[in-house]
Amino acid sequence: MYYSSGNYEAFSRPRKPKGVEKKTACFVGSGLAALAGAAFLIRDGHLAGNQISILERQQLPGGALDGIKEPQRGFVIRGGREMEDHFECLWDLYRSIPSLEVKGASVLDEFYWLDKDDPNSSLQRATVNRGEDAHTDGLFTLSEQAQKEIVQLFLATRQEMENKRIQEVFSKEFLSSNFWLYWRTMFAFEEWHSALEMKLYLHRFIHQIRGMPDFSTLKFTRYNQYESLVLPLVKWLLDHGVIFHYGTEVTDVDFDIAPGSKQATRIYWRRDGREGGLDLGPDDLLFLTIGSLTENSDNGDHHTPAKLNLGPAPAWDLWRRIASKDPAFGHPEVFGSHIPETKWESATVTTLDQRIPKYIQKIAKRDPFSGKVVTGGIVTAKDSSWLLSWTVNRQPHFKQQSKCWT
Ligand SMILES: Cc1cc2nc3c(=O)[nH]c(=O)nc-3n(C[C@H](O)[C@H](O)[C@H](O)COP(=O)(O)OP(=O)(O)OC[C@H]3O[C@@H](n4cnc5c(N)ncnc54)[C@H](O)[C@@H]3O)c2cc1C
Repeated sequence: MYYSSGNYEAFSRPRKPKGVEKKTACFVGSGLAALAGAAFLIRDGHLAGNQISILERQQLPGGALDGIKEPQRGFVIRGGREMEDHFECLWDLYRSIPSLEVKGASVLDEFYWLDKDDPNSSLQRATVNRGEDAHTDGLFTLSEQAQKEIVQLFLATRQEMENKRIQEVFSKEFLSSNFWLYWRTMFAFEEWHSALEMKLYLHRFIHQIRGMPDFSTLKFTRYNQYESLVLPLVKWLLDHGVIFHYGTEVTDVDFDIAPGSKQATRIYWRRDGREGGLDLGPDDLLFLTIGSLTENSDNGDHHTPAKLNLGPAPAWDLWRRIASKDPAFGHPEVFGSHIPETKWESATVTTLDQRIPKYIQKIAKRDPFSGKVVTGGIVTAKDSSWLLSWTVNRQPHFKQQSKCWT
């Protein structure tokens, strides 16, 4: 799929590549990257599904896109996704994946119709004093100086922003604006995070700026993304013969590295406590899609805080091992060596005290049990020292939840 100037190339179908019958593909990880990659190989690459294997160390697919009922804990999820019009690959993919909810529709149709009938927006973006309107009132409160600083960041070269922190390129005027409040809570930025990353987000999400104060440019799935996105895609892949191996941790990959080419020659794994592996040749494609934002995450509950797990981390360990073989495989230490400055926490409330919904209604200005948009994205407690932000999605958020108390 290409979007060049217009849609001329977007709707033509790729020809069958020569020799595709001899190819195999192996994905490490079963997050959205692997599932999408496998689906594109089948749909656009003409590779037979039964030539594709997916190796996943967990017992279920989806990676960071989770959401499940655990027998002892109830409904558990580590986060939700803000989505939008310009997810070019995602929407192109889901136009081909049948919906599990609406007969005869694709997942894209289902999503599009839902958003048409119930468009997203927030009626209260931020609060103070435990629920009172913070009166951000749709304003960016950017001084002329702060506006200049945004433009300077936008126009700076990547090299100029390498190894700089946000607080090094923005003044106090910018950092006390509503714009920064909206931005940092919407995209999870801190002042000590990368200025380059912020620059790249400015480019990527420039069209979102209009919707930042009220999230009217965002969209959300009907249920959590495991049920709304992962399950239909996994079903489609299984129907096409793709082979999933769960409980399989990939530990290393050998490569033949020559100028201009890198050929994976063997993959090593551990499954059920036993070491295994597979030799790979020039017709075997290997995709390492190991994430992982949620690596080493831990669940707490009402009585036990989640623990910071600094133990072995299979995704990072694999990347480090591979990166040590050639600089072209990247620099994991840049991303994975600053745990205190980059770790994050999220909480899911699955059963509410009956006294709470009326407060949610007061803040969201919508009935939490209507089945429609409630908060329409996060609500930020502006006077919380860590800018705690919370959200109530369309209810129920899990298909199995009861209709009234979710
Ligand atoms: C709380 C939260 C909020 C987010 N909000 C948004 C948002 O608003 N909008 C948005 O677009 N994106 C958002 N994201 C990001 C988005 O969810 C991720 O970018 C995407 O799901 C990552 O997919 P992935 O397949 O690349 O990686 P992952 O989903 O991390 O999948 C990697 C998989 O690889 C497996 N794996 C790792 N190592 C090994 C190994 N050695 N052997 C075998 N298997 C291995 C893991 O178990 C995992 O299943 C958010 C993420 C989180 C966590």
